[in-house]
Formats: sequence, structure tokens, C-alpha cells
Amino acid sequence: MARAFIGFGGNIGDTRQLITDAIICLAQRCELHILAKSCFYQSAPVEAKGGDYINAVIEIETELSPYGLLHICQAVEQEFGRERPYANAPRTLDLDILSFEGVSQADAELTLPHPRIIERSFVLLPLLEIAPNFFLPNLGELKHFLPQVAHQRIEKLPCRNCNCGEKTVSSQTAH
Ligand code: AMP
Repeated sequence: MARAFIGFGGNIGDTRQLITDAIICLAQRCELHILAKSCFYQSAPVEAKGGDYINAVIEIETELSPYGLLHICQAVEQEFGRERPYANAPRTLDLDILSFEGVSQADAELTLPHPRIIERSFVLLPLLEIAPNFFLPNLGELKHFLPQVAHQRIEKLPCRNCNCGEKTVSSQTAH
């Protein structure tokens, strides 16, 4: 079994519901098991068009290969109606494999760890919420990269079913 992290994002429609549905869709696959899910975050677009994005990250364990997991993620994107009219267009739902335990590769089809993992607050904050000491061999502890993304606007949204986000909305907001 390998542990992997998947990032979700979108800025068209009810993205929070879409991500919730996509996670349920993944949870129903017998090839993987969901270990943790972050809260939702609302972030400003980075090198992308349209309005604010909603983001979240999950941790899974799986017996799939990295490419097997990629193909499932792409099937979920298709199922939820993602269109790719042009590069960085607004998107219904985007799934990225952020890391896959023990795998480091630079294939265009699947780069692992994800090449922009430390450059985006909308990846780092939800990832560190569920894995505060997340570590990559070539980069060290990812929390050390938070200051570099502190200028990217992001807000942790209060959860609907618990109060875990309420105290942290202001303290997690990066201006
Ligand atoms: P995007 O438009 O950002 O969703 O990029 C999609 C393309 O990135 C697909 O062709 C994937 O094969 C490729 N890709 C490369 N590395 C990854 C990764 N770690 N997770 C998801 N897609 C990836």
C-alpha cells in the first residue's frame, strides 16, 4: 500500500458540492481508501482565469500504481464535466496527484511530486492541515515554504458539520 495526496480545485458552479461528490466517488472505489480530508479553502486564482477557487486535499492509501491513480483522477474529472477549452481556463473540477509515496519522476504525463506543490497556498495550506509535518526528500518539511506563499489570498472556510474552521478563518488568511 502506498500513501498519496490528491488536491482538488475548481471555480465553476457549486465547487464545494462537486468536490464533496468527487471524494464520495473516489471513496466508493475499492482500489483506494481515504485516510483524511482537509477543510475547504477559498483562494484567488493563480495563473488562471475566472473567480475564486475552492480547494481541498485528501490523503489516501492505495494499491494502485501512480498511473492507475492518475487515470482514476482523470475519469472523475471527466465525470464531473471538466472542459479544457484553453490552457488555465476556468474549470469545473481539477484533480492533481500532489505526491505518491516513494515515487519521484518527471514524466510529462505524471510528474511526482507535483512540480508546483510548494508554490501554491491553495495546495500547501490544506495539505499541511491534514499532514502538518509533511516532508519531501528533496525539499524537507513543506511548512517551511509557507512564508513564500503568504501573499497569495486564501481563506479557510468553516465546515458545515463542525466548527473546526471557525477560529482559523482570520489566522489562516494570507494577504
Ligand atoms: P491540468 O490542466 O493542470 O489538470 O494538467 C493536466 C495534465 O497534467 C494531464 O495531462 C496530466 O497527465 C498532467 N500531469 C502531470 N503531472 C500530474 C500530476 N501530478 N497530477 C495530475 N496531472 C498531472
